[in-house]
Amino acid sequence: MYDDLIAIAFECGAMNVAIINAKDIVFSEEVRVLCEKNYCGKYNTNWMCPPALGELEELEKRVLEYKRGLVIQTVSRLEDSFDVDGMDRARIEHFELMNNIRNALKEKYAYIDLLLLGAGACPICIKCAYIDDEPCRFPDRAMPSIEGYGIDVMSLTQACNIPYNNGVDTVSYIGMILFTTEETP
Ligand code: SF4
Repeated sequence: MYDDLIAIAFECGAMNVAIINAKDIVFSEEVRVLCEKNYCGKYNTNWMCPPALGELEELEKRVLEYKRGLVIQTVSRLEDSFDVDGMDRARIEHFELMNNIRNALKEKYAYIDLLLLGAGACPICIKCAYIDDEPCRFPDRAMPSIEGYGIDVMSLTQACNIPYNNGVDTVSYIGMILFTTEETP
């Protein structure tokens, strides 16, 4: 089954894919502190980011309700290292790929419970409903931020033997689909 999940992710366009045991995922308070510093400009503006996501402890507990994670990396080419539009486009493409993988998994393994974590803030709405204190407009498609969950993405890539960076003038994004199954890798 794991080979099949990995094959589905590659078929959808992922560059690198791996399976990790949920208990090996590293959570870090420092990652959450970086969210609070708001380098991405999305802190406190999105239902799928802190502080709306909740406390680190409860998010870790939620992740550990799942047994394994399918770690998914996309790599996109940029015009140069200042190509912010290219980075934004690549993040949307990563979000769409994660959704395509989710749909493909659900079609084949409808019984599996999944939790998707994407790269950065949920990008569906131009202005997240959080800002107007309204409920999320698309709760079935909204995707929490993997960083917002306090997951140390660099450690995750190391544990999965996936490169964190993929060369000059590229941008790499990491997402994860947590799932529960009795099979062991
Ligand atoms: S779907 Fe829209 S309202 Fe919901 S979290 Fe994403 S951006 Fe916000």
